[in-house]
Amino acid sequence: MGLIVSKFGGSSVASSQKIKQTVEIVRLDPNRRCVVLSAPGKAPEFSVKVTDLLIDAVTKTLNRQDYAEPLREVKARFAAIYEPLGVPRGVIDGALGDLEGRVKSPTNHPGKYRDLVVAAGEDINCKIFAEYLNILGVKAKYVCPKEAGLLVTPIFGDAQPLPEASVNLAKLKGLCAEGIVVFPGFFGYTADGDVATFSRGGSDLTGAILAEAMDATEYENWTDVDGIFSAHPHMVDSPAQITALTYKEMRELSYIGFNVLHEEAVRPVMRKKIPIRLRNTNNVDNKGTLIVSERLPGERDVVGVASGGGYCSFTLQKFLMNREKGFGRKLLSIFEDMGLSYEHCPSGVDNISVILDQDQLKPETVNNIIRAMDEVLVPDEVKTEFGIALVSVVGEGLVQKVGVLSQATGALSRAGVNIKLVNQGSSEISMIFGIDASDESKAVNALYKEFF
Ligand code: ASP
Repeated sequence: MGLIVSKFGGSSVASSQKIKQTVEIVRLDPNRRCVVLSAPGKAPEFSVKVTDLLIDAVTKTLNRQDYAEPLREVKARFAAIYEPLGVPRGVIDGALGDLEGRVKSPTNHPGKYRDLVVAAGEDINCKIFAEYLNILGVKAKYVCPKEAGLLVTPIFGDAQPLPEASVNLAKLKGLCAEGIVVFPGFFGYTADGDVATFSRGGSDLTGAILAEAMDATEYENWTDVDGIFSAHPHMVDSPAQITALTYKEMRELSYIGFNVLHEEAVRPVMRKKIPIRLRNTNNVDNKGTLIVSERLPGERDVVGVASGGGYCSFTLQKFLMNREKGFGRKLLSIFEDMGLSYEHCPSGVDNISVILDQDQLKPETVNNIIRAMDEVLVPDEVKTEFGIALVSVVGEGLVQKVGVLSQATGALSRAGVNIKLVNQGSSEISMIFGIDASDESKAVNALYKEFF
């Protein structure tokens, strides 16, 4: 018998009807032994996510304002979801029991306080969901991440799992054989016993850590989309769904534009080569998108076209730059010293560009960067450009295929798109084009048409 870890996102648990669908899905496959839930997200009848209501309560408390309203809404939301399903009021109130206490906890460490309150959404949801399964005659058990040993770093709001967590969570495998384990996503405990959450969307990471620890046969991630598409549906009309792709391809696609899965969730499962399957709670007949370690022969050379805007570049020109030792190191140190991360660094004989996400920059930062460049590197010229979009053609098949670059540049030139930079990573899984942001949609459509 297999062991599937199934993570259901906020939209899959957002209303009574969604909870019913989720239970149906759990029951459909006896291998679904471990269920990880988010806090209820948005639904047609609920416009705010429970996590956002809890964040609102935290902000209000920290600003010495009245937090009663968001707290009332959280309680009302759980009642509105679970009461129509026949879950007794006592069970709901029992799960909500410590919410008031969390909100009234000491606020002297705001990060610690925030995480304690915000994690309640997942925790309460899982306690009630497990009871609901039992009411339906499906044996299930809520598991507390503290008791299970999900140890994380004390970086509040952006915790990382510790290696011991994996060893501890492996022991849950036995429990999965006895009944369905219902495990709250999004948070763990520090060595001091404090709640610490992952970054937003972090329930994906919880599912991945559990799948890795228990050597799951598959990690399912249920959301409200069918899977990953060959291009973003906002850019291209009805793009083809990708049925299978590799972890690396997924990473390249999610790097610009495809945010189906939390970035950090791929690493744990990739280590053990556990397949990830992205599924749609609203469309169970669709088998979703499978993410695996190796591509099968006969698959497409190019799996997708991704894009993202909001990049800027700093281009330095200096005669005989290629002979100057340490030029690249000194250049990148300028960004490092200012706490900025860079995305790409294409270079020519006497010029080099650094591309970065322009959201990181404050108005004064650009000046400071140029001043530091002038002082440290004495370039002949520094040029900056903002509003660059990056468009990427992704596929492991690019390694063997001749002429993909010319095919792509041909398509872009026929569409009248001016290419500002080209970057083909050394792994040859993707080629990235820097273009004017206003050409993004034109470029994606031209490339999609060319390869699909
Ligand atoms: N509920 C949290 C959020 O909204 C975590 C999650 O859903 O994965 O970010």
